[in-house]
Amino acid sequence: MFTLLANLARMNKREFLKTASALSVGVVLSPVISCANNKAVASVLGLPTEDGFTLPALGFDFKALEPHIDGMTMEIHHGKHHAAYVANLNKAIATLPAYAGKSIEQVCEMVTATDGAIRNNGGGHYNHSKFWKWITPGGAKAPSGDLLIAIERNFGNLDEFKKAFGEAAKTRFGSGWAWLSINAKQQLEISSTPNQDNPLMKSLVDKPGTPILGLDVWEHAYYLNYQNKRPDYITAFWNVVNWDVVSADYAAAMKK
Ligand code: MN
Repeated sequence: MFTLLANLARMNKREFLKTASALSVGVVLSPVISCANNKAVASVLGLPTEDGFTLPALGFDFKALEPHIDGMTMEIHHGKHHAAYVANLNKAIATLPAYAGKSIEQVCEMVTATDGAIRNNGGGHYNHSKFWKWITPGGAKAPSGDLLIAIERNFGNLDEFKKAFGEAAKTRFGSGWAWLSINAKQQLEISSTPNQDNPLMKSLVDKPGTPILGLDVWEHAYYLNYQNKRPDYITAFWNVVNWDVVSADYAAAMKK
């Protein structure tokens, strides 16, 4: 079972569903995954368990991204900040049953400005769950295949894309995120959002879409190592981007 879970953890949702049905593992997909052994599966799918959403494992050691992102930042960011978003999201959902049993993507898609605690903590949970997968030690240094072709078509070349994405990250005033998304026209689009908003929140953002890469530019993401030098953190980020996951997210978003 553990080997199966480890393999499932590397799959995207589409691949998982295909494999799950082929293997007849009998996972109940809705409304809530109840078997304790299926908690890791629920986490992969972005679904809540009977105890609500859970903090997903980081997948690598806290220090694995050094010197680009330091171990203490990673430990606090994952174990304190992300954990708090998960706990507060579960508390908020307990008072707002319309969100119960939904995947984290569905929670983000349906949230409105009225439900501030869901917006902030649901966004916090989705954004960080994705962010941990978009960064990795020792990954491919550049995108390839269809994603590279799309980047070159949209931005000219990879460096121009990095410049434009970096500019969105640099100029986000205060706390927030920079994004690369696939929009409704199936085009790559760069945007940035304040706080824990994200492009899935279609009623709240200027440029809705499916995020395939995001960068956390809250000070908690970089201040211990970079202090006020956000541009240095943005430059360092490119050393740890997990282009394999970004490519897989691109392929999945284009099939939607
Ligand atoms: Mn963060």
